[in-house]
Amino acid sequence: MPECPVCSAPIELDSDTVEGELIECPDCGTELEVTGVDPFTLAEAPQEEEDWGQ
Ligand SMILES: [Zn+2]
Repeated sequence: MPECPVCSAPIELDSDTVEGELIECPDCGTELEVTGVDPFTLAEAPQEEEDWGQ
């Protein structure tokens, strides 16, 4: 079971989780990105600010 890279809490992922999926750590609430699925690896999701300008 992968661990949250921020608080080290174990994260349970569905078997159909796909790479690039964004999840939220149930323990610390940090948004995490699935960076790999074999085995599951997690990274803190980039906190990008969207540019909404046209
Ligand atoms: Zn966490």
